[in-house]
Amino acid sequence: MAEMKKYRAGRMIMGRLEYGADLLEEITEICRKEDIRMGRVEAIGAVSGARLGFYNQDTHEYQFFTIDQPLEILSLAGNVSIKDGESMVHAHVVLGDKEGKAFGGHLAAGTTVFACECIVEVLEGPTLERAIDEKTRLPLWKI
Ligand code: ZN
Repeated sequence: MAEMKKYRAGRMIMGRLEYGADLLEEITEICRKEDIRMGRVEAIGAVSGARLGFYNQDTHEYQFFTIDQPLEILSLAGNVSIKDGESMVHAHVVLGDKEGKAFGGHLAAGTTVFACECIVEVLEGPTLERAIDEKTRLPLWKI
């Protein structure tokens, strides 16, 4: 059975990320500066290169890969919650190349912003904290 909590939409912040910044680190920094503990993230734009992860369900480890070329951020969707007492951004991206072919995965540090328009929506309600889940060994929400 799914375990769900209820939230109300709070304030939204919207802006442009800095050229050359690390995409994941920049969004995380914004959330920490704004003291956003629960939220929703979305972004579009472009990156000059990407580093993404795929969670291997057999070995229980992320396999990271890099794509060393300019790509469009077709979609970035993510959330903000708490891990180890701090705001943590968990985001997935779909990136497109010059032929419109898509790559995707778990956004990792090492993805470089070329241009990015980002929205963070604050969610008001119970704080969710991440802890290692026994079955998946992923840091999932303790509900
Ligand atoms: Zn993920």
